[in-house]
Amino acid sequence: MSRDQYTFVNPAELYADFDPQKQHQPEPGLDAELTPKADLGEDTYRGTGRLAGRKALITGADSGIGAATAIAFAREGADVAMSYLPEEEVDASRIAGILQDAGVTVVTLPGDLKDPGYCRSLVERSVEGLGGLDIVVNNGGKQVFNEDLTTLDDQQFDDTFKTNVYAMFWITKAALPHLKPGSTIINTTSIQAYNPSETLVDYASTKATINTFTKALAQQLAPKGIRVNAVAPGPIWTPLQVSDGQPQDKLPTFGEQTPIGRAGQPAELAPAYVFLASPESSYVAGETLNVNGGSPTP
Ligand code: NAD
Ligand code: MG
Repeated sequence: MSRDQYTFVNPAELYADFDPQKQHQPEPGLDAELTPKADLGEDTYRGTGRLAGRKALITGADSGIGAATAIAFAREGADVAMSYLPEEEVDASRIAGILQDAGVTVVTLPGDLKDPGYCRSLVERSVEGLGGLDIVVNNGGKQVFNEDLTTLDDQQFDDTFKTNVYAMFWITKAALPHLKPGSTIINTTSIQAYNPSETLVDYASTKATINTFTKALAQQLAPKGIRVNAVAPGPIWTPLQVSDGQPQDKLPTFGEQTPIGRAGQPAELAPAYVFLASPESSYVAGETLNVNGGSPTP
């Protein structure tokens, strides 16, 4: 490894050759087809035992932020159960291989988060496959832009809420009986929760809900020793963005409006999840950790 996440760098100059062009993939999109390739930390993330022996379920673990988090968790010593859609097998099996190389137990559990039965069985099969559960990362998400509310169909509105909000509820509820004190729950919200784009009315609303769900539930579970927190990414280069997350003509300048002046890479999100998952954040609960290139937040 020439560089790792601890190497002293100028963050504004990191990824200086990143130059995305217009491109399109059908939903859910694949990292395998993304150009340029996203940095998931495959070649840079160095574990130091921060999650040794932990057991994590991560949704959307095949690609993007979830995959970078899965790689980091495994290299920090956690066993990982991966949720993703069956059509993402090519991405998921590559990531599963990287996790296995880290020497941890990996369970792959494809299915549809919109299905409450899948969400419940996902938790049960994670517990079975890993021999317990003490980290839940609700990260799977749907984002499809729409320019005019009168053309935002009920199906999309429903699917976006089911994937982003209901699945988090179903999974968290099913996981709670298994989570002993010290366990951690991390939800993926977004800068869209408080700085919404005009084209993401449905998506941004789900992210505001996730933020509030996190802060309410954190108070309920803190006395039980279970910490609930959220990570709020800014513009991050993932398959979600090229599968109608953004209009295609926004992709060449994606992320350039941030103070750091560029899009973030999934690898830059993983340390935030590691921090919130590990006992080093023992007094942090109900917090939203923004990883957004410096855009001001409430
Ligand atoms: P991504 O496409 O790599 O990951 C999203 C994952 O969600 C997919 O890989 C897929 O496995 C999963 N998913 C979607 N619908 C599903 C369904 N019905 N059933 C099962 N799994 C399903 O993109 P990403 O950007 O890494 O997204 C991860 C999270 O980060 C999402 O919650 C997204 O809203 C959030 N986020 C992303 C950005 C960004 O700029 N990329 C910014 C803020 C928040
Ligand atoms: Mg994917």
